[in-house]
Amino acid sequence: MKYILVTGGVISGIGKGVIASSIGTILKSCGLRVTSIKIDPYLNIDAGTFSPYEHGEVFVLDDGAEVDLDLGNYERFLDVTLHRDNNITTGKIYKHVIERERRGDYLGKTVQVVPHITDAIQDWIERVAKISVDDDDAEPHVCVIELGGTVGDIEGMPFFEAFRQFQFRVGQDNFCCLLVSLVPQPLSTGEHKTKPTQHSVRQLRGLGLSADMIICRSQSKMDDDVKLKVSNFCHVDLENVINIQDCPSIYRVPLLLQQAGLVSFFARRLKLQISSPKSRTFLYKWRDLANRYDRAVEEVSIAIVGKYTKLEDAYISLIKAVRHAALALNRKLNLVWVEAESLEPVSQKKDPASYHGAWKALCSANGILVPGGFGSRGIEGKVLAVNYARTSKTPFLGICLGFQAAVIEFARNVLNWEDAHSTEFNPDASKKVVIEMPEHNPGQMGGTMRLGKRRTVFTEETGVLRKLYGNKDEIDERHRHRYEVNPIFVDAFSKNGMKFVGRDVEGKRMEILELPGHPYFAAVQYHPEFLTRPLKPSPPFLGLLLASCNKLQLFIERGCRISPSHEFGSIAQSDSDDEEVIAYTHSGATEDDM
Ligand code: GLN
Repeated sequence: MKYILVTGGVISGIGKGVIASSIGTILKSCGLRVTSIKIDPYLNIDAGTFSPYEHGEVFVLDDGAEVDLDLGNYERFLDVTLHRDNNITTGKIYKHVIERERRGDYLGKTVQVVPHITDAIQDWIERVAKISVDDDDAEPHVCVIELGGTVGDIEGMPFFEAFRQFQFRVGQDNFCCLLVSLVPQPLSTGEHKTKPTQHSVRQLRGLGLSADMIICRSQSKMDDDVKLKVSNFCHVDLENVINIQDCPSIYRVPLLLQQAGLVSFFARRLKLQISSPKSRTFLYKWRDLANRYDRAVEEVSIAIVGKYTKLEDAYISLIKAVRHAALALNRKLNLVWVEAESLEPVSQKKDPASYHGAWKALCSANGILVPGGFGSRGIEGKVLAVNYARTSKTPFLGICLGFQAAVIEFARNVLNWEDAHSTEFNPDASKKVVIEMPEHNPGQMGGTMRLGKRRTVFTEETGVLRKLYGNKDEIDERHRHRYEVNPIFVDAFSKNGMKFVGRDVEGKRMEILELPGHPYFAAVQYHPEFLTRPLKPSPPFLGLLLASCNKLQLFIERGCRISPSHEFGSIAQSDSDDEEVIAYTHSGATEDDM
């Protein structure tokens, strides 16, 4: 097993996660099996109780773990399925050690950060690195470990000490350390400044780890003399100083790293028998994606009616899912953020400008997306957005709370149950159309929801979503909710046109709804955004984008064809007709371009 530690210098938030996942992607393309571990040195046991404002989205894994959003990056880039233990937090490690102490496992010894916490960290990493993350259950060859935060943070200290020891435990040839550091360009001179990086490297060395490679993140391209300076002052070979400048899309990052000679670096440093990416298609595929992203001109606008609209990280997987679907159609995505609360009539009195602004934004979009959420703020605005989408026949996708909002809206305005609501927001509503699930444990926060991968069975032969999912009988998607559609009202909904076309295996829990006759009105109780991939867009999102571009019908008529000949699972254009339905058409890159 080869371990690649990726740490950060100067500041966090400069794309360490994307760089670490890109490294994994490159090694995977060389024929290696790659896994990854994300370390978050905070005390929380997991990300389940985080406010989206604080840390962005809570990402959910198949096994129901609520983890840091960076794990989403790894899953999407490496196309793997990670597990709960692939995310380590200080809280998890301490909990583990304290539980052992209570059991008497330390035989009366004083339990200390060194060696007990540091040993626990190393054991955890060695154990988890071996767990398969692919369908074939095979043990990985390489484990990319991203240590959150930056060198020198108090919280990170036990982890740095653990890795200092770890390099000897596993041997020099099996461990290397990369530092991703910011090289700022102060406006006054515009020059690249390497001093903060020098300090970070020195600090890292003080902790007993030396950087084998420094990846300098900068706004614009660094000159060779700046690289030379980093090399001289930071005790790193010039060829191991790499510059990744800001680029239009993250799809360029694997290409830039590959061009910088990463494969030969790892081959040398970790004694790996690799020479270049095994398939040239790897590079082709990323270049094609990056080009397509840069070159798309025709726009499609999607309004996201949410409540954390000030912080895009709060909806990161959702944005990825919409983007992947837009890329499949070669469309330039225009995301329109609409504050749900601003759509409510009270806001018209309080702040007429934001009220009218929000409605204008909503009405001008080609498609409307109502995402998941918790708490009552903005729920009425979401219901109003659903109402607009339904009555104006604007393509609509509702997710989790968006699914529940669609049910509430239909009950109020089609069934005329005026005070229909979810018991989450009005426990006294006369028509409780959305109710708490028995699993919910109200006394405790965190880990009390229906979480992770669950099966949905399609109950009807027809239906748009079933077609979009490739006509499968059943699908597995990830969940994160406490409330569900009240099954006693399902018949009333059905008779009036709202069809629950997907249910859980027992048929009692509503998972997918559709409104036949509407250009695209679909909502799902699960979170399809957690399983989207750049080249395998999530079907409900693909449907929304197709409908928003007026291409859904054509796509369905032509059999929802995913090209079998195309290695990346791309979506074909019809060969019988010149008109392109949706396309992974050529962006101009050819394999020989590499
Ligand atoms: N608050 C709703 C529930 O608990 C929806 C949750 C969500 O959107 N993730 O069921």
